[in-house]
Amino acid sequence: MPTIIYHDEDADLGALAGETMAVVGYGNQGRSQALNLRDSGLRVVVGNIGDAARQRATEEGFEALSIADAVTRADVVMLLIPDEVMPEVYERDVKPGLKPGKCVSFASGYNVAFGRIAPAAELDVILVAPRMIGPGVRDRYVDGKGFPSFVAVHQDATGRAKARMLALAKGIGSTRSGCVEMTMAQEAELDLFTEQAFGPAMGLAIQQSIELLIAEGYPPEAVLLEIYMSGELAYTAQRFVDTGLIAQMDFHSHTSQYGSMSRAAKLMDIDLRPRLREHLDDIRSGRFAAEWTKEQENGLPVFNFMREARTQIPLWEWEQRARKAFRLDEK
Ligand code: NDP
Repeated sequence: MPTIIYHDEDADLGALAGETMAVVGYGNQGRSQALNLRDSGLRVVVGNIGDAARQRATEEGFEALSIADAVTRADVVMLLIPDEVMPEVYERDVKPGLKPGKCVSFASGYNVAFGRIAPAAELDVILVAPRMIGPGVRDRYVDGKGFPSFVAVHQDATGRAKARMLALAKGIGSTRSGCVEMTMAQEAELDLFTEQAFGPAMGLAIQQSIELLIAEGYPPEAVLLEIYMSGELAYTAQRFVDTGLIAQMDFHSHTSQYGSMSRAAKLMDIDLRPRLREHLDDIRSGRFAAEWTKEQENGLPVFNFMREARTQIPLWEWEQRARKAFRLDEK
């Protein structure tokens, strides 16, 4: 089946005319999405647990309520709180106010995909999941640019779920860039794969390169600068987006190009895929989600141990030294 990608012309803000959006959570995504929706002409109230963020929302011109009151007022409820706390908040503060025909919108497929939240059958259930951090959602809207999202209709109780999903995506500014249709499970799985397989594999290449070079006598500060701390890697990664992963090679010298291509060929015998697949299988089977739920129920012993252990590896010390040497924390 061909991939379906929605743009501005596919979405009509009119689908939400006369409806009230409740943005639940005024954090990274919540604040940016609420501001964007309002600037797109939609009616928004904010629901938040704590006083500080509620106060901020009020100062920024929103009617800010408790979560339960915001849900009661709304036709479309956007859950923009951390995924870990969402099932409990949903059960306690959201579910009672979700009358038939309302729409509940997620920015992550995790809780629905792994059965942590099971919205009632008479609700529209949609996903609008930005591929952009919260501040970027606002900045790119203000700059007139877009940011991509993954979108899904998980449940269509009213016959209007898709139109609502597209209107929300347009309202936050995402159809300017393009919204890829998929299932909530696919969104959750792709997200977790990037975090659990691709990210660690890339991190391993970085860490082992650094360890090798320092063991070979190169100054740690120089090694860190060379590998990533100069910002050249980040700059080049932006070129992957701007011109393409392969085409950006033209920005590098011929020596660099020849060396990269010829030596990449020599590494081709390393097949990471079986190991990456193990991680994907853990995700798809629900094993990771079950493990993570249990870890939270147990009070996060492994999580806290690993966070502590991060500071015990040599890279931590090298990094502190190099950051100080280059005065990075002063900039
Ligand atoms: P944040 O961590 O920024 O959420 C903070 C908000 O959640 C605050 O309003 C906070 O209220 C509220 N909150 C925290 N704990 C609780 C609780 N126990 N009960 C009720 N409210 C609580 O979340 P994000 O914006 O990062 O993520 C929101 C959603 O967006 C998630 O589903 C996430 O997966 C998704 N997403 C996030 C992206 C990102 O880049 N961050 C990208 C794409 C999707 P208070 O301040 O009063 O404590």
